[in-house]
Amino acid sequence: MGIVIIRQDDKIGMWKEALQLYAPQIPVYSYLEDHPREAIKMALVWKHPKGTIVGYPNLECIASSGAGVDFLFEDPQLPSHIPITRVVDEYLAMDMSEHVIALILAQLKNLYHYKVDQGNTIWKPIAYKRIADMTVGIMGLGALGSVLAKDLVRFGFRVQGWSGSEKNIKGVKTFTGSHAQAEFLQSTQILVCLLPLTPSTTGILNAELFNQLPKGAHVINVARGGHLVDEDLLKMLDNGHLAGACLDVYHQEPLRSDHPFWEHPKVHMTPHYASVSDTNSVVPQIIENYRRLISGEALLNRVSDTKKY
Ligand code: NDP
Repeated sequence: MGIVIIRQDDKIGMWKEALQLYAPQIPVYSYLEDHPREAIKMALVWKHPKGTIVGYPNLECIASSGAGVDFLFEDPQLPSHIPITRVVDEYLAMDMSEHVIALILAQLKNLYHYKVDQGNTIWKPIAYKRIADMTVGIMGLGALGSVLAKDLVRFGFRVQGWSGSEKNIKGVKTFTGSHAQAEFLQSTQILVCLLPLTPSTTGILNAELFNQLPKGAHVINVARGGHLVDEDLLKMLDNGHLAGACLDVYHQEPLRSDHPFWEHPKVHMTPHYASVSDTNSVVPQIIENYRRLISGEALLNRVSDTKKY
């Protein structure tokens, strides 16, 4: 029995070492090395090459090593009957929250603007905004969105959030379901997307939605590139309805070098690094789920078969 790691980046060695250090009794293999396929109980995957989670007759769990699982459903050969788990981790949530708060503060205090002025030797103060005057609206109040919401409340922002099911978070005005989306948007000055990418959220950040935000709103997409209609964002930035956008995720990663986002003065980019799974805190939950598989207990952080997140 054992675990196979399947991913395309250069982090297989790092994950293998971390798993073996924490649980030396469990055999761990890279999918690239010779391994006994019938012995594999769990596949630990991240953006795997399509068609590589097949041929494991005793596979009982597909564990995403990140919070998102959308990449799995893009694989037409994904074994449909195997339970999927994902990462829910306090450090992942904390890192995301710090990233988004840094972006918001940079916007309020015009730091991006001054960086450009500095490059042009321009000394020209412009009005800044106050935290107390800003309403941040978070789309998605799950493991990440709810922590961000609480942190923003502590900072003194007005905070509201939108989700599929009802939430109760101290200090946060919550909106539930599609019928409440318009009301949520009309009072949101800074919109943060922390939704999972599913068929119902693909392309949700589009012109129709942006038009419902007040003029001068900012958009922060730290969820998935597939949430955003790129052309609609560019149109709304260029016509002045939106004041700026911070993007961490893109349809194609790395973003192709001729994409208009690179040069756009109102787009501020980071390379999909808002929050990254830390092996120190994630490996224990992977091994706990492996233990549960062996003992027949319910898995932690299981992805819903119907909701797909
Ligand atoms: P969760 O599954 O914990 O939360 C998702 C939230 O979105 C829930 O509140 C859910 O509602 C809500 N939601 C889902 N579908 C809809 C819908 N159709 N309408 C309204 N609300 C909806 O996810 P996480 O918080 O753990 O992560 C969110 C996403 O962040 C990940 O899927 C991933 O894509 C992205 N991410 C990005 C990272 C980065 O570095 N840029 C790092 C980590 C994650 P309900 O509560 O009712 O289910």
